[in-house]
Amino acid sequence: MALFKKMDNIEDDQNQVDVNGEVEHVKVLIVGSGPAGYTAAIYAARANLNPVMYEGMEPGGQLTTTTDVENYPGYPEGIQGPKMMEEFKQQAERFGTDVRFGMATAADLSQRPYTVTIDDKKKVQADALIIATGASAKYLGLESEEKFRGMGVSACATCDGFFYKGQDVAVVGGGDSAAEEALYLAGICKKVYMIHRRDELRASKIMQERVFRTDNIEVLWNSQTEEVLGDQDGVTGVRLKKRDGEEYEISVSGFFLAIGHKPNSDIFKGQLDMDDTGYINTEPGSTHTNVEGVFACGDVQDSIYRQAVTAAGSGCQAALDSERYLSRKEFEEAKAAEKEQAEK
Ligand SMILES: Cc1cc2nc3c(=O)[nH]c(=O)nc-3n(C[C@H](O)[C@H](O)[C@H](O)COP(=O)(O)OP(=O)(O)OC[C@H]3O[C@@H](n4cnc5c(N)ncnc54)[C@H](O)[C@@H]3O)c2cc1C
Repeated sequence: MALFKKMDNIEDDQNQVDVNGEVEHVKVLIVGSGPAGYTAAIYAARANLNPVMYEGMEPGGQLTTTTDVENYPGYPEGIQGPKMMEEFKQQAERFGTDVRFGMATAADLSQRPYTVTIDDKKKVQADALIIATGASAKYLGLESEEKFRGMGVSACATCDGFFYKGQDVAVVGGGDSAAEEALYLAGICKKVYMIHRRDELRASKIMQERVFRTDNIEVLWNSQTEEVLGDQDGVTGVRLKKRDGEEYEISVSGFFLAIGHKPNSDIFKGQLDMDDTGYINTEPGSTHTNVEGVFACGDVQDSIYRQAVTAAGSGCQAALDSERYLSRKEFEEAKAAEKEQAEK
């Protein structure tokens, strides 16, 4: 008796649902719907792999939280983040990607097919799994910071620095990322304040030296942000508090957070190799993780570039890696079956 029957809603489908409707078997499962996930979906769908995608808590990913995206190639006039992601989705669906609402809440990668639990209920088994769950920037948690998000408050200098060309901005943080962001902004902006709550930076010596040698960066030591100030047009300044309690204000039009990111990889902890922060380790130049048939792409495996175009590029790699993996696997399984038959 066949354990699986075809799904009704997809023609010529290799994906199957079990007779009890509890476990669904799919060829390629994509978790996450940002630029990485959708690009993986476009390539996997066009390779006839019938990908199923779960969008997660933020359909469209991080770009749905921003306004203008000006650095994604192909949009000479720029494009609004949510619109761009809607176009990614349409393109993925055009080739047959089954895009579904739902969150991966658990994963079992101990045996193939790999099992992913959706919303603590449904179980999906996949021959190949593409993880594209992104990373979330950390914020200070201030009400005023939330209020001016996208109106001067940003967690990405590479993305938004250009909007503050020739203006004064602030960067919060003291590590290598904060130093990187401050140096990047110093090349665009008039003045960059680096707000740091301690009396020395955590950044590497070489990065510190580069910061100290840059004329238009001023480090505000022992200072903590109390409030992001602004009006209807956006950020106008920051109110800071020194360790000794003294409060003071600076005038800036941009407020950049550089206090770290959290990769959305918790459900794979203990099963996939990761760095200390939780970024999934992939083999250099590929999207292969330490588990055969499980691929990671986009920000969840990239602590360095974290851009839409790099995420999309690695999404393409993940789909191609999956396709090659599945076709090799099919070939090996067919050969093994042939051998077994011949030995009978
Ligand atoms: C405010 C802002 C502005 C930005 N501006 C630019 C810009 O102008 N240009 C640029 O190139 N980059 C920009 N970026 C960076 C860019 O958005 C990211 O590099 C890019 O979105 C990463 O893509 P991704 O697909 O890896 O992940 P994300 O876009 O983070 O998408 C992750 C996806 O995974 C899903 N997910 C997470 N956990 C689960 C789970 N357990 N189950 C199911 N789904 C899950 C989420 O719902 C989401 O759909 C900006 C980022 C921010 C925050």
